[in-house]
Amino acid sequence: MAQRIGLVAHDDKKDDMVAFARANRERLAGFELYGTGTTGARVTEGTGLEITLLKSGPLGGDAQLGAMIAEGRLDALIFFIDPLSAMPHDVDIKSLIRLAMVYDIPLACNRSTASAVLAAL
Ligand code: PGA
Repeated sequence: MAQRIGLVAHDDKKDDMVAFARANRERLAGFELYGTGTTGARVTEGTGLEITLLKSGPLGGDAQLGAMIAEGRLDALIFFIDPLSAMPHDVDIKSLIRLAMVYDIPLACNRSTASAVLAAL
């Protein structure tokens, strides 16, 4: 079964995520991909990759990914966080990061780590 990767990027980081996905398109195509609504749509638009779209992050998408981690249904998380903006769903973001730690799944918060994680999966 293909390993499952979650993709989330805050607004200022979405271009970064699309660029990362473009650069790693072939490799990402071998995984089952899940994305929060806007991030997933942007990546699909930019790469043609098939991504299961969850709700937008502030509307519960981060919580959905957290639930997937808790249920053992996500193998890695690529989460490009904007460190310079306040987010209305800060609690969801913290919860998602926390669950990735609790369940010890690879968590990449920037492009260089994402490349390393992708190479290691
Ligand atoms: P989005 O959610 O991909 O729907 O924008 C990401 C976020 O901001 O948490």
